[in-house]
Amino acid sequence: MYDVERIRRDFPILGREVNGQPLVYLDNGASAQKPQVVIDAVMRAYSHEYSNVHRGLHYLSNLATEKYEAVRGTIARFLNAGAAEEIVMNSGTTEGINTVAYAWAMPRMEAGDEIVLSVMEHHANIVPWHFLRERQGVVLKWVDVDETGALPPERVLDAIGPRTRLIAVTHLSNVLGTRVDVKSICRGAQEKGVPVLVDGSQGAVHMPVDVQDIGCDFYAITGHKLYGPSGSGAVYIRKERQAEMRPFMGGGDMIRDVKKDEITWADPPMKFEAGTPGIVQQIGLGVALDYLMDLGLENVARHEARLCDYVRSRIDGLNWLNVQGTTPDKAAIFSFTLNGAAHAHDISTVLDKKGVAVRAGHHCAAPLMERYGITASARASFGLYNTEAEVDALVDALELCQDLFG
Ligand code: PLP
Repeated sequence: MYDVERIRRDFPILGREVNGQPLVYLDNGASAQKPQVVIDAVMRAYSHEYSNVHRGLHYLSNLATEKYEAVRGTIARFLNAGAAEEIVMNSGTTEGINTVAYAWAMPRMEAGDEIVLSVMEHHANIVPWHFLRERQGVVLKWVDVDETGALPPERVLDAIGPRTRLIAVTHLSNVLGTRVDVKSICRGAQEKGVPVLVDGSQGAVHMPVDVQDIGCDFYAITGHKLYGPSGSGAVYIRKERQAEMRPFMGGGDMIRDVKKDEITWADPPMKFEAGTPGIVQQIGLGVALDYLMDLGLENVARHEARLCDYVRSRIDGLNWLNVQGTTPDKAAIFSFTLNGAAHAHDISTVLDKKGVAVRAGHHCAAPLMERYGITASARASFGLYNTEAEVDALVDALELCQDLFG
């Protein structure tokens, strides 16, 4: 049984007040709060177990290396990767996608080659591909969402042409909450020999992920949305793709040998992990993923689906509220504007006065904003510790906004 009140007690920050009101934290899409076990793990690592990894022969270096490397296995288990070596650890999704762009895509793409993207991508899954457009004349092919904000796999597959070299698509939209059937996209793309990168920054938070079942080539996650520390993360890179990659960044740890006129690389995944990594962040991420797996991703997803239904029941019929993204199977992420003059920033400010934390702006998804004909929206994004009472607090605060601005 999913006991949300007990779970909330694991997150110390949820007990605080903001502006004299109990905190209602609905900005999980930007970054999630941390359970005490993660905070303790970070404290413990710095207090008792800290040293640099991979390099030393002394006790603490071995201990830190053991703890750090164990996380690779935890991430592999979390994503059901075929081997821990397919996990490249990094600072988050942005670094993961840039790794793929620089180390895999750039060396193999030429002017006129195409990358297929959806209009609902986060800038982290847009800007690295613009680098290839600017530098190498690679063409970005955009696939639109339908009127509900869904992305039917056929639309993506229909965009594949003879010059398509990659599909880069989100698993779950950070604005609309739309889930994407990436498994069908991967199956269709594979038949045409096109690799697929999945931006799992949001997807891995809201549903169980099995990269082998999905059949993707790359899957990027970010630790701070997974209830882990900021600056932690990983990208799953299928073995065959790793073999095609040159290194991304150069430095310590990613080489086998360096001579004055010659260099040999370490084997993957170290080949893609230059320099001292986020040791403690990554150790914290391992604990966060264990915490999530103990709760059960299916249980979390069921809880969030119930919240999603409850939000819908509360906002259905509020004709002054425009919600972007109405697919039935969406995750509990609600972006909205109000009829009338209220700017998203004004909405967020009023909500904040009531203790309700939401995000306002373009959500790093400018092409999607353009698609909806808006410059900004407010976004309430729910997590594993949110409650129906918090949905009520959100709706009460929105009604206040409507009274003020409507
Ligand atoms: N992709 C999506 C869908 C996101 O929501 C985010 C963060 O908001 C990112 C990528 C970038 O993640 P990070 O800033 O942790 O690298």
